Amino acid sequence: MCRHLAYLGEPRTLAEVLTAPEHGLYRQAWEPRHQLHGTVNADGFGVGWYAEGDPVPARYRRAVPMWADRSFADVARVTRTRCLLAAVRSATEGMPPDESAAAPYTSPPGAGQAVGGCWLFSHNGRVEGWPHSLASLAAQLPASRLLAQESTVDSALLWALVLGRLESGQEPARALAGVAAEAAGLAGGRYNFLLTDGQMIAATAWGDTLFWRARAGEVLVASEPSDSSGDWQRVPDASVLTAAAGEVLIQPIDTTVPLTK
Ligand code: GLN
Repeated sequence: MCRHLAYLGEPRTLAEVLTAPEHGLYRQAWEPRHQLHGTVNADGFGVGWYAEGDPVPARYRRAVPMWADRSFADVARVTRTRCLLAAVRSATEGMPPDESAAAPYTSPPGAGQAVGGCWLFSHNGRVEGWPHSLASLAAQLPASRLLAQESTVDSALLWALVLGRLESGQEPARALAGVAAEAAGLAGGRYNFLLTDGQMIAATAWGDTLFWRARAGEVLVASEPSDSSGDWQRVPDASVLTAAAGEVLIQPIDTTVPLTK
């Protein structure tokens, strides 16, 4: 399993959010404290963030451990943002090891467009019985969407399914909960998702840990707390969280109601 984190609030450097905190994502790459599956997250990392006045995020992703990338330390020191989504990866066996599989994923540019959409997405977990177990879901996607996937990793197909729902107008929380419930019903597995468009954060807890912390004007949603302050709250398993402008809403994922529409 991986560890991931999203931040929304006053402008901060990537370093302030990711590397400076005592138990931040940087340290979670080699010493996570709450991870239920896997021990280190050394199979790459990625950070996506929004620059002032630009709704399309920038990404920095590598196939090496976060601590081994000196260039990232420089970028993180000087890059300031109101919203970021970052992940450190522990690759599921059999999955591609390269940078294309490192979260966050984003929406690909449409035909004739130079840049992609506003989303950043990460998946902490695995699909059991991959890829056959989700073949029926993949078959529902248009071929153009399957061909546009950034990677053959299980998480990329889950992202394509989520994006399809977002593009057909579903609320982010409903799209995440719907794909988690549908995939879990078909395949089993673990489905902690994290999603942002720069204005809000949505996340599921499904099989691994998830925490949040809100302070004046800012919110953090993360696989585990970045520090030992007492104001982190744990999200119950099988829940979906939405956070924006200091408000956090957590709802149980009701698997008895079809979430397909
Ligand atoms: N299955 C995904 C991968 O291989 C996510 C892994 C994880 O959460 N550790 O990258």
